[in-house]
Amino acid sequence: MCMCKKPTINGHYGYQWNSENEIGVFPVHAPAPRELDEIIIDEPGRCGHGIDSHHLHLRVVKNCGKYYLLTDSPRGVHRLQLANSFAVSVLEKMDSDSRYWTLQMIHHTAQREAREATQAERKFWRQAAADNRIKTRKVRNQNQVEVWVLNSAMPSFRVNNPYCPA
Ligand SMILES: [Zn+2]
Repeated sequence: MCMCKKPTINGHYGYQWNSENEIGVFPVHAPAPRELDEIIIDEPGRCGHGIDSHHLHLRVVKNCGKYYLLTDSPRGVHRLQLANSFAVSVLEKMDSDSRYWTLQMIHHTAQREAREATQAERKFWRQAAADNRIKTRKVRNQNQVEVWVLNSAMPSFRVNNPYCPA
């Protein structure tokens, strides 16, 4: 949590980590675009509404007719494809702060959904393994294994046989 006395945008004077630190500037650190990315929206991290979001710089880029929300992540730049490109023009009409917090909400909502989907998937496979419901069968004359889970709605699917060179 920052200790800025008032909402402060990265790159502007006013940032304070704690009450003992001198007031300073939080450096701007934007997620790097790819080749052919056209930067449509560029909103540095900031704080406000009691939220410290200095670490999150948000960019919307256009690439081959599609729009992506770019953020830095520990695994590199994350590119979230935006589902409704019409709404990007709405975002462009907003003031900087409204735009930032709307995109910040989209970012965190998508992150949470992805995390919950991964957790649900892991739970499914762990339970199936614990119940010994995961079944496999070699596909005749092919380097593939058919996989299915008993008592589940998941259709069977084929994966390459790890014991046979492709
Ligand atoms: Zn702050």
